[in-house]
Amino acid sequence: MQLFEKLIEHPEAVRLVLENTHRLPAEDVPLVEAQGLALAEDLEARFDSPPFDNSAVDGYALRSADAEAGRTFRVVDEAPAGRPAAKSVGEGEAIKIFTGGVIPEGSDAIVMVENTSGWGEEFELKKAAAAGQNVRGSGEDVREGDVILRAGTEVGPPEIALAATQGYGTLPVYRRPEVVVLSTGTELVEPGERELEPGEIYDSNSFAVMAQVHEVGARARRVSAASDDAAAIRDAVGEALRTADVVVTSGGVSVGEKDLVKGTMLELGVEQLFWGVKFKPGKPLFFGMRDGASVFGLPGNPVSAMVCFELFVRPALVKMMGREDRGRPRIQVYFEEAVKNSFGRMHAMRVSLEQTEKGWLARSVGAQGSGLVSSLTKADALALIGPGSEGVRAGEPVEAIVLREGVIL
Ligand code: AMP
Ligand code: MG
Repeated sequence: MQLFEKLIEHPEAVRLVLENTHRLPAEDVPLVEAQGLALAEDLEARFDSPPFDNSAVDGYALRSADAEAGRTFRVVDEAPAGRPAAKSVGEGEAIKIFTGGVIPEGSDAIVMVENTSGWGEEFELKKAAAAGQNVRGSGEDVREGDVILRAGTEVGPPEIALAATQGYGTLPVYRRPEVVVLSTGTELVEPGERELEPGEIYDSNSFAVMAQVHEVGARARRVSAASDDAAAIRDAVGEALRTADVVVTSGGVSVGEKDLVKGTMLELGVEQLFWGVKFKPGKPLFFGMRDGASVFGLPGNPVSAMVCFELFVRPALVKMMGREDRGRPRIQVYFEEAVKNSFGRMHAMRVSLEQTEKGWLARSVGAQGSGLVSSLTKADALALIGPGSEGVRAGEPVEAIVLREGVIL
């Protein structure tokens, strides 16, 4: 087995990933499928909206000139939503109207039924009405030709609503990346499938990574774990590369004799951009490209796999989706006591956060071993502690990547 030829620094690795990652092409997708994606073009209003003057209430349409309190009106027609009245409103007349109904010709005010003697052939007006009362004017929401949504906007429920009001059945968005997730390791058993035999563990990485991919809004397909066998890995990765924009493997990428992933990638024609990053946890990370598809070989230790995803795969997916605004928030944190870093490389330390009068106080979640999956459930952020055994001093500002955005809101 090979040893690492050249370890690169974390910022250099991120730069290489992003330099080799490009926004995916735009496509038109049905409205609801656009959720979480970025609009690829400005969207214009095709017509004034609402398209016609209509009633904001249930009541009667009448002429404001007639509308003194105490006067009696004769009801000549009705105008429910979707069925404009056939008649127009003359002096002393009214048309029964419901919310969304077209304002009848001749009328210029709507009185709420609550301000009349009630529904009937005739009614008495209890309260004078002014011109324009309870009328929703055409175009008061948006005007034909207005840019209603800007390119780059993230499509969420309000954007879907607005596009629908304008009759858009599809939206032009940057395509969702297709990610194939694959674990490697002879010891791995599918959770829920059976009890473990000696030496076996359940595959957690592929599930964790699936969830991380979904959290970004990309599409993920999980394939069952490949054993530490070059042919099995080659078949699975080769198959994945046929359809995927991104292939994410875990395990088998370090320098052990059973670590076959990197060699297999190269055999498959993947061009290596780096293998080995000077940071903890996750030093053996591999990144390469083949025919425009990116390949990330994450280390097998579950914490390393998830942290490497956060630091490298997530920013790539966000960029592919045209969503560069959607990186994890970065904040300054401090520690109450000095933190050593004896690893000789940057340490992305799992910390919890607490707001104090001095800012965001970070505390290590405890032991930082890369197999400690439970530690991740306690982490609000990754504090980036630079190399050098002096680490950081008490109170010194340290950059942190916030994993749970809710904590800092
Ligand atoms: P490796 O990178 O293959 O040397 O694996 C490092 C450690 O992570 C070993 O203890 C593996 O058993 C463990 N590991 C590898 N893959 C997974 C996985 N998919 N789920 C959980 N643990 C794993
Ligand atoms: Mg392994």
